[in-house]
Amino acid sequence: MESPTTTGWIGLGNMGKPMARRLLAAGLPVIAYNRSPAKAEALRAEGATVAPTPAAVLDAAQVVFLMVSDDQATRELFTGEHGLLQSSTTGKLVVNMSTVSPGISQEMAELSRAHGHEYLDAPVSGSVKQAETGQLAIMVGGDEAAFKQAQPLFAHLGKLALRVGPTGAGNNAKLAMNTLLGFQAQGLAEAVLFAQQHGLQTADLLELIKSSALASVFLNLKGDAILNENYQAAFALKLLAKDLRLAKAEGSDTPLANVVHQTFQEAETTHGDEDVIAILKHLKQQ
Ligand code: NAP
Repeated sequence: MESPTTTGWIGLGNMGKPMARRLLAAGLPVIAYNRSPAKAEALRAEGATVAPTPAAVLDAAQVVFLMVSDDQATRELFTGEHGLLQSSTTGKLVVNMSTVSPGISQEMAELSRAHGHEYLDAPVSGSVKQAETGQLAIMVGGDEAAFKQAQPLFAHLGKLALRVGPTGAGNNAKLAMNTLLGFQAQGLAEAVLFAQQHGLQTADLLELIKSSALASVFLNLKGDAILNENYQAAFALKLLAKDLRLAKAEGSDTPLANVVHQTFQEAETTHGDEDVIAILKHLKQQ
C-alpha cells in the first residue's frame, strides 16, 4: 500500500487550525509551523510534528499548505531568513490557500519554480464552520499536474476543488467572490437598519427574508449574530477590507464595488477585529 502524503501546514489561525486538524483526522502526517509558536504546540497534542521554521516544514513534507493573513505574510514565509526558499530540497508542492493578490502568487510561483518546486494558489470560500467540517469551496490557479497531485488532499478540506486557470486565477476568483460577500454584508446591514429605523423588529425582518426568495446561507450564518449582537470574528472585517483593496488594485471599479470598498475601509479602523457583519454597527454609528 502506498504510504500517505506527508503534509506541512503553515499558519494556524482561525482557518488554518481546523483545516490542519482535518488532515490529521484523515490519518495524514502533518508538520506544523506557526509564527507564534504556541498555536503550533497546541496541535502537537493532536499528533502533529512541530517544525521550528518554514524551511524545516518544506524539508520534511511533500506538500506544504499556507493559510496566512496576506501578501506580506506570504512573502515573509517564502523569502524570510528561514523561509521556504531556504529549504535544501526540491520537487515539493506549495499550496497557498490564503486570500492574497494574483501578483504575489505569480511572483512566488516563479521563485518556487526557480528552486525546483511547484506552486498553486488555492484560496477558499467558507468560514470556520466549513473549515471544521471539510465543506470549503476551493478555487485553484496553477499547473494541471500540480492540481491533480493536490486533489486527494483538497478532498479532506472542501466539498469542491475547482481549477479555474493558471497561476493567480484562483486569487481572482476569490476576489470576485469576496466582492459579492461585501455586497451581501452591507446589503443585509442596510435592510436591517432601515427596518429598525421604522420601528420593525429585527427578528421579524430576518424571519421574513429567510422565508422569501432572498433567503441565503449568508443570512443563516449571520442572523443569530445580528440578533444577539455578537460580533466576535469568524471572518474579521479587516480581512474583508483587505480583500476589497486587493480587488480594487486588480481594477475593480463598478458602482456597488466602489461603495462597498469605501464603507469597509472606513469601518476597519473601529471594527477591524470584529466580524464582517459588524458593518451594521458601523452604519448605525454614521
Ligand atoms: P487569522 O486567524 O488572523 O490567522 C492569520 C495567520 O497568519 C496566523 O497563523 C498568523 O500567525 C499568520 N501570519 C500573519 N502574518 C504573518 C507573518 N508576517 N508571518 C507569518 N505568519 C503570519 O486569519 P484567518 O481567519 O485564519 O484567515 C487566514 C486567511 O484565510 C486570510 O487570507 C483570510 O482572508 C482567508 N479567509 C478567511 C476566512 C474566515 O472566515 N476567517 C474565510 C475565507 C478565507 P500568528 O498566529 O503568529 O499571528
